[in-house]
Amino acid sequence: MKESLQHTTISLPVMEHFYTLQGEGYHQGRAAYFIRLGGCDVGCVWCDVKDSWETDKHPKYSIEYLINQVKKTSAEMVVITGGEPLMHNLDELTEEFQTAGLKTHIETSGAHPLSGQWDWICLSPKKFKAPLKPILHLAHELKVVIFNQSDFDWAKNMLLLFLQPANCTCNLNGIKPHK
Ligand code: SF4
Repeated sequence: MKESLQHTTISLPVMEHFYTLQGEGYHQGRAAYFIRLGGCDVGCVWCDVKDSWETDKHPKYSIEYLINQVKKTSAEMVVITGGEPLMHNLDELTEEFQTAGLKTHIETSGAHPLSGQWDWICLSPKKFKAPLKPILHLAHELKVVIFNQSDFDWAKNMLLLFLQPANCTCNLNGIKPHK
């Protein structure tokens, strides 16, 4: 198993970066600039971006270059995804992006320590490498990929163990809201 790549970064391996609409979750439909970082050790069997797994096969871009690319578009928010973006220390990246007036969003499995300053954290935990507990209390949004019954059972257990939606009036398949 690879260790976290936590270190101060001047440049980061990028598999792809592009301007689009956020297609999922709370911010669905908003203009966003996606940056898909290389590197992932979570190993989801159904992963549709396996090309992202190897960190070294992707070109490295400076933070300044990435900000310039975003600034050519109308995007006000940047979505850092992967791969597993938290395999990298993202303190410097998020500081520079926020200084440039951009909102910083991340999509992560939570399997590595959280770094960076985030306006929005989308946690997408995977049963192949469980999320670290601290991020469970910091995430703004939870996204669980359900591929089979086993995934659903695992997700239900996670909800029961960790999430306490105090004001939620919904009832997720028998999971009663916390009171
Ligand atoms: S965490 Fe994401 S990139 Fe990594 S294996 Fe799972 S689906 Fe693929």
